[in-house]
Amino acid sequence: MSDCLFCKIAAGEIPADTVYEDDKVIVFRDINPKAEVHLLVIPREHIPSLNELSEDQDALLGNMLHLLPQLAKAQGLNDGFRTIINTGKGGGQLIFHLHMHLLGGKNLPGFE
Ligand code: AMP
Ligand code: ZN
Repeated sequence: MSDCLFCKIAAGEIPADTVYEDDKVIVFRDINPKAEVHLLVIPREHIPSLNELSEDQDALLGNMLHLLPQLAKAQGLNDGFRTIINTGKGGGQLIFHLHMHLLGGKNLPGFE
């Protein structure tokens, strides 16, 4: 997916403020943070959205979910955090490479 921004970030072709990475997942700071802490958790694999998810990607999604509390703790979010996955244009999705928003700290936004 050569025209996908998040694939380019995952490939290191576009710089990002990366806070975690492994062979399947990369996590970086949102360029336009909506809260004190605002991370994006993405699979390296190009999956456009939850609409395209298949059952053989269940383990990958499980790994991403398990990563969230570890990331939150590492960011000092000991009180809790919010996770948002926008799906499709109607869900407010702007970048069609699956990602989980992890938000916390001051200025935590409501649902939009
Ligand atoms: P969504 O509306 O769920 O598709 O969210 C896309 C998110 O990607 C937005 O919160 C943007 O601020 C964020 N974003 C866009 N470009 C970049 C970038 N180059 N680096 C980090 N975050 C980005
Ligand atoms: Zn992609």
